[in-house]
Amino acid sequence: MHILVTGGAGFIGSNFIFYLAEHHPDWQITCLDKLTYAGNLETLDSVRNKAGFDFVRGDIADRDFVNDLFSQGHFDIVVNFAAESHVDRSIEDPGVFLKTNVLGTQVLMDACRRSGIRRFHQVGTDEVYGDLPLDRPDLFFTETTPLTASSPYSASKASADLLVMAYHRTYGLPVTISRCSNNYGPWQFPEKLIPLMIINALSDKALPVYGTGQNVRDWLYVEDHCKAIDLILTDGQDGEIYNIGGHNEKSNLEVVKTILRRLNKPESLITFVSDRKGHDLRYAIDPARISRELGWLPDTRFEDGIRRTIDWYLENRPWWEHIVSGDYRQYYEKMYRGR
Ligand code: NAD
Repeated sequence: MHILVTGGAGFIGSNFIFYLAEHHPDWQITCLDKLTYAGNLETLDSVRNKAGFDFVRGDIADRDFVNDLFSQGHFDIVVNFAAESHVDRSIEDPGVFLKTNVLGTQVLMDACRRSGIRRFHQVGTDEVYGDLPLDRPDLFFTETTPLTASSPYSASKASADLLVMAYHRTYGLPVTISRCSNNYGPWQFPEKLIPLMIINALSDKALPVYGTGQNVRDWLYVEDHCKAIDLILTDGQDGEIYNIGGHNEKSNLEVVKTILRRLNKPESLITFVSDRKGHDLRYAIDPARISRELGWLPDTRFEDGIRRTIDWYLENRPWWEHIVSGDYRQYYEKMYRGR
């Protein structure tokens, strides 16, 4: 089995590559990544020299490049993690979100159509469903909840999902989509809530919390997410959408306080800042379908996952210190000069 993992130098994609290397050691893995600010080659150090693993630097939205890649070898499965993923950045500059998240998905699917594949899997987000009110804990997103994106990021992901389903219906491309809640765990770029708060707390810097910190997210440990995608690849039905959620709803303030307690840091580090524009109130996934049909359930309780995540950031300071200081850019320019 030859699998193409796009965006594999980012947070979830790299965790997925490690998961594949452990659970499908006979699979051939090609990672395609543009190495934007969010992609980090150092993350892949443990697999880069292994037989059966190949890294290619390139842009999923570059049609000539993608066609050339597909002409060099046959992929059985493509899993598309590559995306611009940060909501705040999409509010500042939506253009690149449309290019990578929508056009990039189209370019990949066109290449898949031509070459013939077993499965194109699109990694989606629950943010395409908009948000839920804070005072209705009985409401959850299901796969049939209407798409109501709030930010340019979620609108670009919703557009990509529509295109994926259209390629299935129109061209018969064998596709699946997963829509997951907020992931956390090792190797996450320190602009996202959990690593940002851990790193700031470790340096006794202010912890910026949007608004009053009451916004609720449903936290999914990244390894549980990887396991779910693997199940969808093997047992999922073509043309179907699967929601993946952690059953771990927490307000941002609760998450930040948990991190401070674990690190023995004072709550006085919390600083409330002006709210994000269009900030979604609550995300909560109903993962009944993937549980019922594929037997998936999250294994990791939030209390355990956050402890493992904090310990990982404590034990892997050089990784995030390079990122925070910008050293890793020099590293990957050095690694890829001339390629
Ligand atoms: P990330 O930002 O950590 O990684 C994205 C990766 O994609 C980076 O390595 C980057 O270099 C690469 N990339 C960006 N543009 C590219 C392009 N044009 N061509 C090739 N590579 C490109 O993101 P993540 O958090 O790992 O998210 C992965 C996927 O999961 C995304 O599609 C995202 O929308 C989705 N998702 C993430 C979360 C979450 O909580 N992190 C939740 C739901 C869905």
